[in-house]
Amino acid sequence: MFLTLKRYFGYESFRPQQREIIQHILEGGNALVLMPTGGGKSLCYQIPALMLPGLTIVVSPLISLMKDQVEALVANGIAARALNSSATEIENAIIRRECMEGKIKLLYISPERLMMELPILSDHTGISLFAIDEAHCISGWGHDFRPEYSRLGILHEQLPHVPIVALTATADKITRTDILEQLQIPDAKVFISSFDRPNLSLDVRRGLDARQKRQTILEFMNHHLNDCGIIYCMSQKNAEMMATYLCEHHITAVAYHAGLNSEERNKAQEDFINDRVQVVCATIAFGMGINKSNVRFVIHYNLPKSIENFYQEIGRAGRDGLPSDTLLFYSVADIIQLTHFAHESGQREINIERLSRMREYAEANICRRRILLNYFGEENGHDCGNCDVCKNPPQQFDGTVLIQKALSAISRTGEEITMRTTADILCGIYSPEVKTHGYANLKTYGVGRDVPLRDWNDYLLQMLQLGYVEIKYDEYNHLHITDLGNEVLYGHKRATLVVIRKEEKVPRRKLKKGELQQKLQQHLNLQITVEPIPLEDPILFEKLRRLRFELAERQGFPPYIILSDKVLHEIATVRPTTVEQFGDVSGIGEYKKQKYGQMFVNVVRQSLGLSSLSDSDESD
Ligand code: ADP
Ligand code: ZN
Repeated sequence: MFLTLKRYFGYESFRPQQREIIQHILEGGNALVLMPTGGGKSLCYQIPALMLPGLTIVVSPLISLMKDQVEALVANGIAARALNSSATEIENAIIRRECMEGKIKLLYISPERLMMELPILSDHTGISLFAIDEAHCISGWGHDFRPEYSRLGILHEQLPHVPIVALTATADKITRTDILEQLQIPDAKVFISSFDRPNLSLDVRRGLDARQKRQTILEFMNHHLNDCGIIYCMSQKNAEMMATYLCEHHITAVAYHAGLNSEERNKAQEDFINDRVQVVCATIAFGMGINKSNVRFVIHYNLPKSIENFYQEIGRAGRDGLPSDTLLFYSVADIIQLTHFAHESGQREINIERLSRMREYAEANICRRRILLNYFGEENGHDCGNCDVCKNPPQQFDGTVLIQKALSAISRTGEEITMRTTADILCGIYSPEVKTHGYANLKTYGVGRDVPLRDWNDYLLQMLQLGYVEIKYDEYNHLHITDLGNEVLYGHKRATLVVIRKEEKVPRRKLKKGELQQKLQQHLNLQITVEPIPLEDPILFEKLRRLRFELAERQGFPPYIILSDKVLHEIATVRPTTVEQFGDVSGIGEYKKQKYGQMFVNVVRQSLGLSSLSDSDESD
C-alpha cells in the first residue's frame, strides 16, 4: 500500500483515515467516505484500484471532473480513461476494448452511461470495485440532486460481490442515510474525516453596500496580487458587474453563469484552470468540475443559502494545502432574498433552517471555525486563530441609546418601515420613501446624524441578530420590535453592541482607457506569482513556474496537473540537483520523476551555476 502511494503519487504517508479506508475496501467491504473538499478522497479508491486485479469503475457526474481526474492519473503514469459523450463512438469503442483486455485500471463514467454499458462491462471485464464520486448527487436532500444517480442501486443488486465505495464532501445526516439506502449498502462502514481545513482563513464583513463591497474586494486583492481566486455572486448581473469592475482595476477577470452559452462558459473555465485568467466571478453554477489545486482565495459577494454550500465553495480554495483566504459578505438584502427563495422552495422548513444556520455563522461573535466544525458534528475545543473573530476579538460598548433611537424611529412609523428606511430616517436622508410618507416630520428624523449611514446599517443588522427587531418577510420586509426590543426602548434593560471594525483603505488606481487591453495582454504572458516562503528562492520559483506553464501548454494539461504549487515551492526551497533528489520531493511519483526530473533539475542547477545534466547522466 505504501509502495503504491510512493511509486504512483510520490507521497510518504497517508492522511488521516485514508489507510483505514483503503484497507477496508481491499478486504471487500463497502464504504461511505465523508471528507472535506481537498481532503484526499480520490486516493481512497485509486490506490485500491491499482492494487486490485481488475477494473475499477468510477461514477462521476460531470465530464469536466472526469477529465481532470483522468489527466491527473495519466500524468502519474496510470492507465485511466473516461467513457462519455465528449469522445466519438470509435474512441469509446477502443476504450471499451482496452477495458476488456485488462489494460485499463480506472474507468470514469457518468451514471446514465454506466446503465447502458454495465451489461457488456460486467460480462467481459473483471470489475473489482465501484467508486461513486460526489455521492450526495443521489439524494434529493442534497444540493446537487441528479436523477440519473438514483438508478445506481442496481449495482449492488446485480453485482453484490463487488465492493462499493461512495464518496462525498457533504456531511448532512439525512443525505448520508439516503445515500446508503439508495445504493442498497446499509451495512457499509462510514468513515467521517475531520472537516477542518486549517489552511483556509475565514473572514466575514457585514452590512456593506455594493460600492463598499467592491472597495473591500480591491483592498483584499492587494494581498493577492497575482493569485487565482473565485468570487461567488447570487445573480448573473452581479457576476458580470464584478468581472468588469476588476478588469478596470488591473485584474484579469471573467464572468461565469447560466446566461452565457456553453462555449463561453467553457472558455472561462479553461482560462481559469490554465492560469490564463486570475479571477472568475461566478454564480453557484461554477465549481463542481473544478479541481484546480492552486485557487488561493474564495469570496462570497452574497450570503450562500446553507453552510453546506458555503463550505463546499470555500473548499475549492487551497486544495494543495497552502494558506488560502476566504471572505464572506453579509447584508440584510441577502437575508430577505434568501428567505424569499426558501419560502418558495419545495422544502420550506429544511431550507429555512439551513439558512438560519448560515446566518448564525455570519453573525457569530465567537470563533467561526468552531461553528463550522460544530455544524459538521465536530468539536475541537479550541479557537482557531485563523478567523476574523480570533484575530480581532469583538469589542463591545453600551449601545442602549443608539438602539433606543432606532427603535423609537421604527415605533413612530407604526412599524411600517424597512431597515433601509430606518437608516434614512436616523441619518436624516430625504429618500423617496421618507418623502412619500412624510417621515421628515417625525421627531426621530435625523437624530442619528452623528453616526455615518454605513455604521447605522451595521448596528441595525446587529439589532436584528440580537433579537431586538424582526423582519416581517410577508409584510414588505418591515421591521417589528420584539418584546426584548421594547424592554430596551422603555429603559428597562441596557444593551451592548459590537464596535465596528474599520479597514484601512489602499485603493488601486483606476485604469485609463486603452491601458486595460495592455494589462490583460501582459497578464496572459505573465503567470502567477506566489508569496515566497522562508528559504525559498523566488527567482528560481518563477523560472520553475515558467517551465511548468510551457510544459502545460505543450502537453495540453493545466499547469497544476504537471506539478502542484506546493511541489514547485518545495523544489525552489530544497533545490534538488539530481533526478534522485527531485524524486524525493513530496508529490513526485516514479513517472513524473522520469518524465520531468531532468528538465526541472537543470533549471535548479543553472540557478546554482552548475552544469546541466545530459541524457546520459539521467539514467544514474
Ligand atoms: P478531494 O477529492 O477530497 O477533494 P483530492 O483527492 O483531490 O481531494 O486531494 C486533494 C489534494 O491532496 C491532491 O492534490 C492530492 O494529491 C493531495 N493528497 C491526497 N492524499 C495525500 C497524501 N496522503 N499526502 C499528500 N497529499 C495528498
Ligand atoms: Zn477562529
